[in-house]
Amino acid sequence: SFDYRDEAEKQDLDYDKVLRPKALTDFTGQPKVVENLSIFVKAAKLRNEPLDHVLLHGPPGLGKTTLSNIIANELEVGFKVTSGPVLDKPGDLAGLLTNLDTGDVLFIDEIHRLSPVVEEYLYSAMEDYHIDIMIDSGPNARTVQISLNPFTLIGATTRSGLLTSPLRARFGINLRLEYYDAKTLTLIVERSAGLLGIPITEEAAYQIASRSRGTPRIANALLRRVRDFAQIKGDGTIENEITKFALDALNVDQCGLDEMDNKILLTIIDKFKGGPVGLTTIATAIGENAGTLEEVYEPFLIQEGFLMRTPRGRQVTERAYTHLGKDKGWSQGG
Ligand code: ADP
Repeated sequence: SFDYRDEAEKQDLDYDKVLRPKALTDFTGQPKVVENLSIFVKAAKLRNEPLDHVLLHGPPGLGKTTLSNIIANELEVGFKVTSGPVLDKPGDLAGLLTNLDTGDVLFIDEIHRLSPVVEEYLYSAMEDYHIDIMIDSGPNARTVQISLNPFTLIGATTRSGLLTSPLRARFGINLRLEYYDAKTLTLIVERSAGLLGIPITEEAAYQIASRSRGTPRIANALLRRVRDFAQIKGDGTIENEITKFALDALNVDQCGLDEMDNKILLTIIDKFKGGPVGLTTIATAIGENAGTLEEVYEPFLIQEGFLMRTPRGRQVTERAYTHLGKDKGWSQGG
């Protein structure tokens, strides 16, 4: 039988292979991160040493995996991928580490979700490139030390606040990815359209960009959906009208906010008179973890001017009221 979900995922992967930038010069946006990385990579190559361990943090879909791939490409070394929740037992990690060639990059996604035991093994691996493995048990128990080839660990996390300090301290390079502004995302949409051979006007690219929550992954996904509309309802070219029609039909928010964003703003307006209100109070009211709220949702709302951090808590702005079609009226906090 035909599995539609499998097929969609496979197409997503194929599509992703085409669109993922492969070199630093191909990577649009994040100028500070790119500039720093290009210096660190050049220096490591010049000295013929492995690159220092890198921690990439920032919300999902902003390019952490992409950049890690690029770093390995630029270093001309091997690239192995795993993730925190997958590395269940120390043995899983040992297997990966002992298979690395000199200078290779090991990418651990969601590194904040490593189990504490596995994390402990990482310490010596990162510091002196060795691991101590316990063999046998009872009176015969002993540890053997296994040395590893020097390697580079790249950890990615959406929740850097959850990282333990010993782990954090072992990354020599610590970089944060920010949400993309609409102008930069427009370039990314135009680049993707070019690679896929889709004709698109600049206006339409900008509209998709502005409604993508500052996130390349969302921009690429919306581009594909809008292309469907352009091919079926139009002549194949993505222009502004068809884009507006498609994005409205798909219920994509005018400002690119998602359901949770709007829920946060609405809750602060309806339940707390627009604020100021404490982070944990909001978190409880919407049933979300305070850390996730702070690290994943808030930064975009603040960057786009919907929310402010004040000494007395979070407060929504004029723009939030307008966006949600809410009247400030009596609810305006004093
Ligand atoms: P993360 O690991 O931070 O969740 P990814 O690296 O998986 O994000 O990126 C998500 C998608 O967005 C990928 O398909 C990638 O091709 C695209 N992408 C991310 N950053 C950029 C960028 N700066 N330029 C072009 N495409 C990008």
